[in-house]
Amino acid sequence: MVNKIQVKSILNKHKKRDDWFLDDYSVNPYSGCSFNCIYCYIRGSKYGENMAKTFSAKVNAPELLEKQLSRRAKKEEYGIIALSSSTEPYMPIEEKLKLTRRLLMIILKYKFPVEVATKSKLVLRDLDILREIDKNAILPTDLEPKLKHGAIISFSISTLDEKLAKILERGAPKPIERLETMKKCKEEGFFTGVCFIPVLPFLSDSEEQLDETIRTVKEYGADFIFVGGLTLFGKGPADCKTLYYKFLEKYYPDLVSKYKSLYRIFFAPSKEYQKELEEKSKRLCGKYGIKNRIV
Ligand code: SF4
Repeated sequence: MVNKIQVKSILNKHKKRDDWFLDDYSVNPYSGCSFNCIYCYIRGSKYGENMAKTFSAKVNAPELLEKQLSRRAKKEEYGIIALSSSTEPYMPIEEKLKLTRRLLMIILKYKFPVEVATKSKLVLRDLDILREIDKNAILPTDLEPKLKHGAIISFSISTLDEKLAKILERGAPKPIERLETMKKCKEEGFFTGVCFIPVLPFLSDSEEQLDETIRTVKEYGADFIFVGGLTLFGKGPADCKTLYYKFLEKYYPDLVSKYKSLYRIFFAPSKEYQKELEEKSKRLCGKYGIKNRIV
């Protein structure tokens, strides 16, 4: 069941361009997400315990985007649009509603570049439109000399361990399926890569695991990989921090105290941990000849 809602705005303009995805705008056709990943920062007090039951489709999104994007295009305010930043654009419901597809057609009409972030093979359905966007989009002038693509497709993973993924990302396609989908996108000529976020402390962050993930991602044809740590927010019963600690207590009780000393009172792991993760991933990206940034 999906709730159908009307919203007042659909195109969000960021104050600052995103360092990783390079997007200046974001569009979220849905609110909440049926993939229900335990670590997801959008779950919690705002959306309710089970996002699969409460997520909504913004049914007037296409008509709003048409209005908002035509105004931006008239002023030539071109910038990459993230589709999406706080939901999955290709949940199973998208097969029927085709909201994401309709939004892509508007993005193509106004020649905006797009960065699609997904875990789903349903993105393959829209490669026809994405191919046209890739060829025809107008990039912001400062990005034009560095980025030759109007469409970027990224796939997010947190671990290659199927058993762990099944617990943490219970509604999402398997990690291997995401990599196979990425491979198809690459074979179709797209600029594509992996968002290895969140890396899970003590579960997917050892030197061997990082090496294996970066090597595998490269073998599946990725042009880039972003590597970033796990953030844990909230104190409510449905917030990701609460649910993640419940998961640890059930499956990895020995790790609870390690996480507590790594996070202390903060939502992110310690600065030293983050620095070490960045250095290790940079080195491994160099080893396998894969970019750790889009440009
Ligand atoms: S797929 Fe993305 S948006 Fe959906 S629950 Fe998982 S992390 Fe959150």
